Amino acid sequence: MARIRLSGERIRGELVRKIEELSGQNLLACNQCGKCSAGCPAAAVMDLLPNQVIRYAQFGLEEVLAANSIWVCAACQTCYARCPHGVDLPRVMEALRVIALEQQGDRLRPQELDPQKVAELPQLAVVGGFRKFTMMGG
Ligand code: SF4
Ligand code: SF4
Repeated sequence: MARIRLSGERIRGELVRKIEELSGQNLLACNQCGKCSAGCPAAAVMDLLPNQVIRYAQFGLEEVLAANSIWVCAACQTCYARCPHGVDLPRVMEALRVIALEQQGDRLRPQELDPQKVAELPQLAVVGGFRKFTMMGG
């Protein structure tokens, strides 16, 4: 009987390829040790812990694009500093945000904001918000 051989590239899906391309990370470098999640200051309000985000990404599960974790992540770099395998998780989170924005559209719409309230915000918060929640900053 002929044996079917599949290359890793063919087994792994389009989403996995795109996440790795945008983030510059090898998702399979993660062995799910959990050190990232144990040190993440935002883990308590995430629906998927950082190591789970990586797990979903490793399998190319589209559900990861609906997780609040990718928006809650503050890019504080703690997980990256703790990772024994050098996985730059904040860059993976950023890649997931870019893909989610491409698929779902901007999460922040200027026309829906109260100009009065925007005027009261620190400029850094406004610029940071648009960079993170719209394709403008992508
Ligand atoms: S610390 Fe690194 S290897 Fe461990 S689960 Fe997190 S990303 Fe994976
Ligand atoms: S960069 Fe994001 S995922 Fe990593 S520790 Fe900070 S908040 Fe958590």
